[in-house]
Amino acid sequence: MKSIAVIGGGITGVTTAYALAKRGFAVTLFEKHRYAAMETSFANGGQLSASNAEVWTHWSTILKGMKWMLKSDAPLLVNPKPSWHKLSWFAEFIANIPKYRQNTVETARLAVAAREHLFAWAEAEGVDFDLKKEGILHIYRDKKGFDHAGEVSKLLAAGGLERRAVTPEEMRAIEPTLAGSYYGGYYTESDSTGDIHKFTVGLAGAIERLGVRCVYGQDVLSVHSNEETATVIVGNGESQQPYHFDGLVVCAGVNSRRFAAQLGDRVNVYPVKGYSITVNLLDQRSQEAAPTVSLLDDETKLVTSRLGFDRFRVAGTAEFNGYNRDIRADRIRPLVDWVNQCFPDVNTRQVVPWAGLRPMMPDMMPRVGRGRCPNVFYNTGHGHLGWTLSAVTADMIAGVVKGTSDARIYVPLQLKSA
Ligand SMILES: Cc1cc2nc3c(=O)[nH]c(=O)nc-3n(C[C@H](O)[C@H](O)[C@H](O)COP(=O)(O)OP(=O)(O)OC[C@H]3O[C@@H](n4cnc5c(N)ncnc54)[C@H](O)[C@@H]3O)c2cc1C
Repeated sequence: MKSIAVIGGGITGVTTAYALAKRGFAVTLFEKHRYAAMETSFANGGQLSASNAEVWTHWSTILKGMKWMLKSDAPLLVNPKPSWHKLSWFAEFIANIPKYRQNTVETARLAVAAREHLFAWAEAEGVDFDLKKEGILHIYRDKKGFDHAGEVSKLLAAGGLERRAVTPEEMRAIEPTLAGSYYGGYYTESDSTGDIHKFTVGLAGAIERLGVRCVYGQDVLSVHSNEETATVIVGNGESQQPYHFDGLVVCAGVNSRRFAAQLGDRVNVYPVKGYSITVNLLDQRSQEAAPTVSLLDDETKLVTSRLGFDRFRVAGTAEFNGYNRDIRADRIRPLVDWVNQCFPDVNTRQVVPWAGLRPMMPDMMPRVGRGRCPNVFYNTGHGHLGWTLSAVTADMIAGVVKGTSDARIYVPLQLKSA
C-alpha cells in the first residue's frame, strides 16, 4: 500500500497522518472543519496523565452513577431515555467489568509509552503547546477515596508507572495555592500537561510540510472498500466527489461508529459528553493564585491544567445524552464553584465554557488495528484519554499499516466483524 486516507483531523487523525507520512506513505487527511482539532480535541482537560489510566468499568461506577442520577450537578449524568446505542453500550460496559484490572494496567503501559513519541515529535517539529512537566497531584477528601487510590497505584505500577502517596503537608508543598482540607493525595512526578488544540494545529502544519494533503472543510459522506481500493466520498447536498486510495484509517472520533458500520465493522463508540472552562487569568494576583501543578480531584472528577501563564483549564463530568453538544449552565456552574472554593484568589470574572464528546468504547480501550477488509484500519475510541494515548496509538497503527511489527508495546485489539 502506498496511498492512505485518514478520516478525521483531531488529535488521533493528525498524529496518525504524521506517523504514516514519516514511514513514507502518501497521505491524504479529510476533516470537515476548516481547521484541525475543532471538535473533541479543542479544549479538553490538557492532562497527559498515565496516572488517570484507571478504566471506569468497575461496579463502583455503576453504584455512583445510580446515586447521581437525580442530581443535576453530579459528575455523571445519564439521560434515561433509552436508545439501542446507549443500551448496547452499557451492556458491553458491564460485560467488561471483569477486565477492569487488565485494561487499567494496559492503559497505563500505553500512556507511559506515548510520552517519548509525543515529546520527540513536538521537539522535532518545533511545536509549542504550553507543555508543563510539573506532575499531576490526585487529591482525596476521605479515607475511602485515598485507600482506593492505593489499590489503583498497584495496577499503575504493574503498567510501569510510579506514583507516591503524599500527606496533606506534602500536598501543600507540592501545590501551595490549593485551599481546603484533604485526607491525602497521590503525586505522579512524571505526568505533564499541555494544550491539545495548540499541539494538533502545530502538528497539522508539520504534516503539510511533510507532503500530506489536507482536505479541510469537506464532509466525508461515506467510505467503502473492495479490499484493494478504498473509496472516500466527500461532498455536500449538491455535489459528491469520490477519492480512491490503497487503504484508509478511520480516526473520526464519535463518528467512527458510523464509518465502521459502512465498512462492515462494529466499533461501538458512544459520545460521552464532558465540559471544560478556561479561566482567563487577567491580573497578576490570579496568575499567582492559580496552580501550576496539574490536579485531579477524584471526588468531583475534575482535572486541571495551567496553560501558559494566563490560562487555567478545569474539565470533567460525563454525560450520556447522545450527540447533543449544548453547553448547559447547570453543568458549567459546578466547575466555576470548584475554582472559587479551591483557589479563592483566582478571579473567575472571565471564564470560557466548552463542551466536547469523548469517543468512548464500552471496555474503555481504543481500537487500534485492522478491520474486516485488509486495507481498512482504525485508530479511534480513546475516550477520556485521547490526548494522553494519541502518540503511541498513532505509532502503532502506522506500524500495522506498514506491515512491520512496530506495535512494540501493545498487541492491537482485534476488531469484531459486524
Ligand atoms: C471535557 C473533556 C476533558 C478531557 N480531558 C482529557 C485529558 O485531560 N487528557 C486526555 O488524555 N484526554 C482528555 N479528553 C479526551 C480527549 O480529548 C479525546 O479522547 C480526544 O480529543 C479524541 O480525539 P479524536 O481525534 O479521536 O476525536 P476528535 O478530536 O473529535 O476528532 C475527530 C475529527 O473527525 C472529524 N470528522 C468526523 N466526522 C467527519 C466527517 N464526516 N467528515 C470529515 N471529518 C469528520 C471531526 O470534525 C473531528 O475533527 C477529554 C475529553 C473531554 C470531552
